[in-house]
Parts: sequence; C-alpha cells; structure tokens
Amino acid sequence: MEQMEGLCVTACEKCPELVASRSRIVNGVGPEDADLLFLGEAPGAKEDEGGEPFVGRSGSVLDDALREAGLARADVRITNCVRCRPPDNRDPKAEELSNCRGYLAREFELVDPKLVVTLGKVPSQHLLDRSVAITNESGSVVDARLGESSYRVLLSVHPAATLYDRGQREGFFETIARAADLSGLADSSDGQSSLGDF
Ligand code: URA
Repeated sequence: MEQMEGLCVTACEKCPELVASRSRIVNGVGPEDADLLFLGEAPGAKEDEGGEPFVGRSGSVLDDALREAGLARADVRITNCVRCRPPDNRDPKAEELSNCRGYLAREFELVDPKLVVTLGKVPSQHLLDRSVAITNESGSVVDARLGESSYRVLLSVHPAATLYDRGQREGFFETIARAADLSGLADSSDGQSSLGDF
C-alpha cells in the first residue's frame, strides 16, 4: 500500500529489504517552496532514528557549509533519493531507486526549486541517468529531467567525503557557496547572518 500526502510518503512497502531494515520512512524537510533543494542518497542510522535527512556527521558538515555560505538549514529543502535506510548502510539498489523515483518527482514538482544540489555520486547518477565521476564533476551545472520537468542541477561531492579526505573540505564548501549564489539565496539574506559576523 503506497501513500503520499503532500510532500510526505506516509506508507510504502515496495522494497522488502528496506521495509525490513528501516524503523521509519524519512521524508524531506524544509520549506515546501524552497529555492534550493539538496538531494542525498538514503537515510543512515541517525536519520532512521531521528526521522530527518542529514542529522548525523554528514549533516554537521552540511550545516557548517550552509552557515559559511550565509544560509541556515531552515532556508533550504533537504531530501534523499530513497526514503528508507538500506541494511548496513549499503548503497540503494537500482530497483529501490526506481521504486522511490515517483515520490521524488512529486516532491520536485511541488517544491519546484530553482536549483538542486546532488550530494554525492548516487544522487548525481540517479538524476543524470549516466555514470558520474563525482570528484571530477563536482561544481558542474547541468539540466536534468525528473518526471515531467527539467531542473537545474549543481553536482557536489557528498559531505561525508570531507570526513574521509580533509582535502575535499574546501571544494565542498565552495560548491555550497556557489549553490547559495546560483539559487539567489546569497542575496536574499535579511542581513542577520552577515551582521552577526561583526
Ligand atoms: N547521507 C545521505 O545521503 N543522506 C542522509 O540523509 C544522510 C547521510
């Protein structure tokens, strides 16, 4: 039985392995009309526990990069390609990505972001429908179709990459600052965050 209410999937049992490994469905968070949408891969243990995307260590890196770009987590939408935690944090399988694709298309259609940022290889390949060497392609802007519409997409490495390889941190932070720029959010600050710097 599949059910989606607005932007939230409230019931789904399409992927037997994910139904067995999840403790809940982890839907996207953030404004329903966000200009900037971040797309991750799938919930991990912390996300499965907390019911919100990117609340573990990767989430702290993302929060830091957003803050440095003058944004708050509450300004942006954050969601995942797959809404249920895969067993042992394995990558989602092609069939699982495909099962969850309609929910993502609906979320994109309703939010209609100006810019989507793919966090890592899996979401980049899922949207572009081709193989992506994310370390090389991070920072590129492309158009990708999902459902009935086309979206502007900025490719990025996954925030966790900066934890394995400290050398990737600067590039990741630059990409997030670029996302703030391209989505128009960098200019729409009410001055609070910049004033806070003084
Ligand atoms: N990694 C992801 O791709 N998504 C999350 O929600 C958390 C970590």
